[in-house]
Amino acid sequence: MMSVEEPGLVIVGASLAGLTCAQSLRAEGYTKKITLVGAEKHLPYNRPPLSKQVLSGKWQGSQTAIDSSEKFAELALEFSLGEIAIGLDVSSREVKTDTRTLPFEDLIIATGASVRRLASTENMSRVHVLRTLDDALGLRDALTEVKSVVVVGAGVLGSEVISALSDFGTKATVIDRMPAPQLPLTGGHFASRIDDLFLEHDVRTKYGVEINSVTEQESGITFELSDGSSVTGDIAVVAIGCIPNVDWLANSGLDITNGVLCDSNGVAAAHVYAAGDVARWHNPVTDKAIRLENQTSAIEQGLAVGKFIVTRESSPTTHPFFWSEIYGNKILMLGSLQAGIPLTIVHGSPSDNRFVAATISNGITTGIVGWNMPREFRQSRSMMEA
Ligand SMILES: Cc1cc2nc3c(=O)[nH]c(=O)nc-3n(C[C@H](O)[C@H](O)[C@H](O)COP(=O)(O)OP(=O)(O)OC[C@H]3O[C@@H](n4cnc5c(N)ncnc54)[C@H](O)[C@@H]3O)c2cc1C
Repeated sequence: MMSVEEPGLVIVGASLAGLTCAQSLRAEGYTKKITLVGAEKHLPYNRPPLSKQVLSGKWQGSQTAIDSSEKFAELALEFSLGEIAIGLDVSSREVKTDTRTLPFEDLIIATGASVRRLASTENMSRVHVLRTLDDALGLRDALTEVKSVVVVGAGVLGSEVISALSDFGTKATVIDRMPAPQLPLTGGHFASRIDDLFLEHDVRTKYGVEINSVTEQESGITFELSDGSSVTGDIAVVAIGCIPNVDWLANSGLDITNGVLCDSNGVAAAHVYAAGDVARWHNPVTDKAIRLENQTSAIEQGLAVGKFIVTRESSPTTHPFFWSEIYGNKILMLGSLQAGIPLTIVHGSPSDNRFVAATISNGITTGIVGWNMPREFRQSRSMMEA
């Protein structure tokens, strides 16, 4: 194990972005103390498998671990798990937690995001959400005992949950206030494809409706909808998006409007950085600050912040990238597809359920999606990156 110099750096949020920052700092030669403070009691794990392999029962929860505690000890990373940051004083360089005051030389904010909850359902035992490993294990257990599930939200997470339900033979109903399912950054181009998958799998869909009320009974849960109909299930899963975890920064003086505002190196203030789902980085190409919620951005920002702290060198700006798996279809997405511009098919054919498609605006490729064609998608990436 390496020896470390004090004082050092505090990372709040011991998950993917926080851990990647720590690994990047060590890789760049940072020798001071690194403390990771995390509200969850688990060492860092990957969330993408939670709605896929873990929910369908193919993986044990432990298979989501990012690395072993031995590896973390080799890097001299100090984890303080189950500890919650409750305040930040930027000028005195101190983080206040639920148990102590932690001084820092540099701070990285990597507190990610939390699920948005449906008002009035917070204390209902039949209503599940999916963000943490504990959520996934709880939902998986519940699924073994139920016959029908109502999923609120036909976004990417809701769609993954609905597709996992087919492994259990569970009857699904999906409710969304939007007129069709939505995958992020796809400009609505895949709405009907996802909807067709739902219909093929006998999913009942209720789009374009508001939820007027929710009642929990001993045997199930009922949603009264704005079109006058009602939907019932044994349990419900609410997947209506996330909110950045910034409450603890309310009195810090940082700009925390929809995430911690940062420059294009992840700098939020002197000696304060942010990365991952909680951060809203400035993009020098578009001159806009955006918050991204995906695994690749959390890794890229974590690597970039670690490098910048040690070397003061910037990392190149990249395009957003995410993947998903819905009813066994492997979906890869880079950049963002433009709504209203027809898709250009680059490889394969939608009718064969294998293709790569792009939107091209004024000669510029704005986004590429791969549907069951990962190799060809990777080839097409260079077109986009050019
Ligand atoms: C079910 C699911 C499936 C997903 N699937 C995909 C996918 O297929 N592809 C993809 O690209 N992305 C996917 N994502 C998104 C991806 O997992 C996230 O973008 C990534 O986890 C972000 O990492 P992060 O470290 O920024 O934040 P998080 O992973 O949210 O971690 C933040 C950590 O900070 C902790 N924390 C929060 N507040 C405090 C506090 N005050 N004090 C101390 N600790 C605190 C939290 O407890 C948490 O452990 C998925 C996410 C979920 C939930």
